[in-house]
Amino acid sequence: MGGRRKAAEKASACLCCRHRTFAERGDGYICPVCFWQDDGDALDRPSAANGGLTLAQARRNYAAFGACEERFRDVGSEGRFRDIGSEGR
Ligand SMILES: [Zn+2]
Repeated sequence: MGGRRKAAEKASACLCCRHRTFAERGDGYICPVCFWQDDGDALDRPSAANGGLTLAQARRNYAAFGACEERFRDVGSEGRFRDIGSEGR
């Protein structure tokens, strides 16, 4: 017994900002907090999905700007989720 899985346990912490925003790892998911895109690679090397940014750089940016890339720093906190939702089309 005790093998019952809770959905919450599948949530993964964002590699960049450490918020538990990822339902699953490596799904091309973009963190709504810091905008880091999970490309399935947890290694600190340039990520093509993140404009060549490495995790170390992304974390520094998050500490400095509140986002993994400086180009997101001007996005207001209220506009973030709306912009993410309309970005694909
Ligand atoms: Zn994040």
